[in-house]
Amino acid sequence: MKIEIDHEKLNHEIDSLASFSDSDPPAVTRVVFSEQDLKARAWLKQRFAEAGLIVREDAVGNTFARWKGTNSGVPPIATGSHIDAIPHAGKYDGVVGVLGGLEAIRALQRAGFQPERPIELIMFTSEEPTRFGLGCLGSRLMSGTLPPAAASALTDSEGETFDSVRQQASFTGPLDSVRIAPGSYSAFVELHIEQGPILEQEKIPLGLVTNIAAPASFQITIDGEGGHAGGRLMPDRRDALCAASEMILAIERAALGSGAADTVGTVGICQVHPGAVNSIPSRVQFSLDLRDTDPARRDRVQAEIEAAIREIAMRRGVSLAIDTVNSDPPAESSPEILAALTAACDADALPYRRMVSRAYHDSSFMSRIAPIAMLFIPCRGGVSHRPDEYSSPEEIASGVKVLARALATLAGGTEPN
Ligand SMILES: [Zn+2]
Repeated sequence: MKIEIDHEKLNHEIDSLASFSDSDPPAVTRVVFSEQDLKARAWLKQRFAEAGLIVREDAVGNTFARWKGTNSGVPPIATGSHIDAIPHAGKYDGVVGVLGGLEAIRALQRAGFQPERPIELIMFTSEEPTRFGLGCLGSRLMSGTLPPAAASALTDSEGETFDSVRQQASFTGPLDSVRIAPGSYSAFVELHIEQGPILEQEKIPLGLVTNIAAPASFQITIDGEGGHAGGRLMPDRRDALCAASEMILAIERAALGSGAADTVGTVGICQVHPGAVNSIPSRVQFSLDLRDTDPARRDRVQAEIEAAIREIAMRRGVSLAIDTVNSDPPAESSPEILAALTAACDADALPYRRMVSRAYHDSSFMSRIAPIAMLFIPCRGGVSHRPDEYSSPEEIASGVKVLARALATLAGGTEPN
């Protein structure tokens, strides 16, 4: 089947979607349920309708656009991603998977393909943790990973709950209606920019993701004893920041020592109280983000870190609290979907490599209820979540072409003669 991607139209649409933003171009800021997000959603639903897709939304604004199949009695296959963007981000993260998914469907329609299974394009709500502190809210709720009561109580920086904000955005159904049963989709494939440098460095246009690393994040609080920086002598101190410093290095050591490059541990936030030049830090709170593709190895490193920081706290006479923010299992791609993607690359003689995703995506949660896989395209310099994020029209078109072919294979159906 000959598949032609209208990359001019697609890139024009990517630019149009980027104009719904709370920052000046080229930066894009589109926080979930903001006025710009709601305008972008309305614009997107028009594009879906133009392609003849049947659009429906759930109680948190996850949006589904369905291309009917010839057999309505079988579960659909799905593709999609997100359109929310963190402050001062770019225009490709997530968007390539939504508008690219739409163009893949249109390309199949233009080619005269008629799917047997329905093909559904999904736009997930709030993949980014910007507003409510937890990412992938839409896919977590859909997959039953996040209990509705826990979601409803999440608050934004203004103290407004997720439940009230989504209702103000006119998504008013019961939260427990968002969950869908395992088996509701026969497959889910997500097209996404790599957000890393490997494909560009190796000059390979496509990455077939075999595993998505499992993120776990923690908040660690240390209470020591404050005091005057001049008055209190060194042997008598219980400095919370000195304890934290030793702990952060222990975290680095544990992650480095796991024996695998896929283990990564990061402390990205460190708050020091009271934060004065002449005052001994009495309290420190820091974050820990720990990821791995192998859950057993991650758990082992996590246990090692816990033991090390407890020992440090005890030795230094400070108290310690470790709170788990989230701890998610890694996802593995389905061999059948990977085979469909491989065959699609081969059909157009497009080089590809297999790779791991170290960032998590909606696919991580969709993997609880459906076989999944992801398809990566290069992004310049591996840069993402920045205004200069960029993938070329040709790179995007290659991704969309492979996605379209794989969707056709997975949906089954009749090809034109
Ligand atoms: Zn994304």
